[in-house]
Amino acid sequence: MAARELVRAGKRVTILEARDRCGGRIYPLPAEEFGYPAEGGAEFVHGAAPVTRALMREARLSLLPRGGTRWSARTGKLSPNDPSPPHMGRFYQALSEVNADLPIAEFLERHFADRRYDEMRRSITRTVEGYDAADPRRASTLALRDEWMARDDGPHGRIAKGYGALVEYLASGCRRYGAALHLGAAVRSIDGARGRVAVRCCDGATYEADAAILTVPPPLLSEIALPSAARKRVAAADIGFGNVVKFLIRFATKWWADHGGRDLSDLSFLLSDATVPTWWTQYPDGYPVLTGWLAGPKADRVWSLAEPALIEMGLGSLGEIFDLPPDRIRRDLVAARAINWGNDPFARGAYSYATPRTRKAQSMLKETNDGLIFFSGEALYAGPDMGTVEAALASGQETAQTILIG
Ligand SMILES: Cc1cc2nc3c(=O)[nH]c(=O)nc-3n(C[C@H](O)[C@H](O)[C@H](O)COP(=O)(O)OP(=O)(O)OC[C@H]3O[C@@H](n4cnc5c(N)ncnc54)[C@H](O)[C@@H]3O)c2cc1C
Repeated sequence: MAARELVRAGKRVTILEARDRCGGRIYPLPAEEFGYPAEGGAEFVHGAAPVTRALMREARLSLLPRGGTRWSARTGKLSPNDPSPPHMGRFYQALSEVNADLPIAEFLERHFADRRYDEMRRSITRTVEGYDAADPRRASTLALRDEWMARDDGPHGRIAKGYGALVEYLASGCRRYGAALHLGAAVRSIDGARGRVAVRCCDGATYEADAAILTVPPPLLSEIALPSAARKRVAAADIGFGNVVKFLIRFATKWWADHGGRDLSDLSFLLSDATVPTWWTQYPDGYPVLTGWLAGPKADRVWSLAEPALIEMGLGSLGEIFDLPPDRIRRDLVAARAINWGNDPFARGAYSYATPRTRKAQSMLKETNDGLIFFSGEALYAGPDMGTVEAALASGQETAQTILIG
């Protein structure tokens, strides 16, 4: 996004990408594998997402709204809809009165330690861990409040041809305007002197420019050698970064659609207390694929498991939820993936979240006194959609504007 804005404004741009593909944490899998371009990374467009939606209009990409019925397996049996836990009115009231930021776990302990709030505390913790992939002992209460208050601003859904189509649109725009795009170009160091930067890649190639925009995920910032002022800013950056293991399991049939006498043919999301707790379908599309989600501290704990063991874990969770022996589930299996983003060398996790010190850290990282090295990407976005594609696009656009007006 940053490259496209700059190249369209007449700047000479070179994109250095470590992987052999564009998109990063947008990761479309080959259509043959799951019967459609399944998403190994980002999948949904959440909320208002103004920059994403504007880009989709420009690229003539439509949104497939999410629909269907959400089921819960929390009480040991499947039931439609997940009822809201008790005391939520009280929770939102206390949340609206917070002035000084603190981690959400501390907020819950301070106001809702009593046993009668157990269920509500568990539900909030699950949301923070599962949706934000965050550690509740670190996640900012004020940032979560912003996110929860802003959440229902627009229809949620998927891009009809997948997020890959958006990446392809941006990449072809960059090429059309003359940007150079180098794949397999892992950056090792960036030096800045006398108003120029020199960027070195692991294969020894060097590129010189007036400025560099660094958009790697936060854990990778410290792996790139930077001039001391930029290094200090990176070292002090307190930005949370959570992990996700995403499971994609393709079956021969939608065996769950009519299960145990229940009609689950329009199943959208399935929430449970199984080891892999959250699952969803491609509804309204009818592909016989279930996607599983294990996020936050629980995803960190499985770092040592290789993909086959993770897939077994996913199948075991489905067996538990549907009360079926794993063999019965395995019988219908066509293809499976379990993508542990924490073990991806160019991501080292899934997406960022705010701690009470993140907003300050973001402002500090955005101070570009020398005008040579700019930090950008989803972790630098300070609005309510942190950790999303919207955050990444908005941040890229903002950085390009800063350079163009500077
Ligand atoms: C499993 C998963 C599910 C998600 N679901 C959603 C969702 O449903 N909706 C949503 O909006 N968001 C979702 N997200 C978050 C979203 O994908 C990210 O916030 C967004 O794509 C980040 O974009 P970015 O450009 O900031 O970073 P990235 O996409 O990570 O781009 C950074 C790029 O830098 C490259 N790189 C790293 N190191 C180097 C180096 N040394 N040299 C050169 N290049 C390097 C990487 O290969 C990568 O291409 C999800 C993420 C994950 C992992």
